[in-house]
Amino acid sequence: MKKYIKGKEKKLQYVKCNMCGKELEINKGILTEGALLIDYEWNYFSNKDGEIHSLDLCEECYDNLIKNLKIPVDIEKRTELM
Ligand SMILES: [Zn+2]
Repeated sequence: MKKYIKGKEKKLQYVKCNMCGKELEINKGILTEGALLIDYEWNYFSNKDGEIHSLDLCEECYDNLIKNLKIPVDIEKRTELM
């Protein structure tokens, strides 16, 4: 779960991993460690039409989660890193 600081810019106040509850590192409103932040709006074809689901996973929980997938995650390496 995450909370933004109120204002025009989307600055994070905190992010906690939904799986393990760990609070992730934030510096000046920016997440400074690996995490998967999900905000997903379910559509008409689901039973959750119009609901936006938000959840966040720390990198460790993400790694544990994907270990259990029958089909592995597609990983593409970007050639240019900023
Ligand atoms: Zn976690």
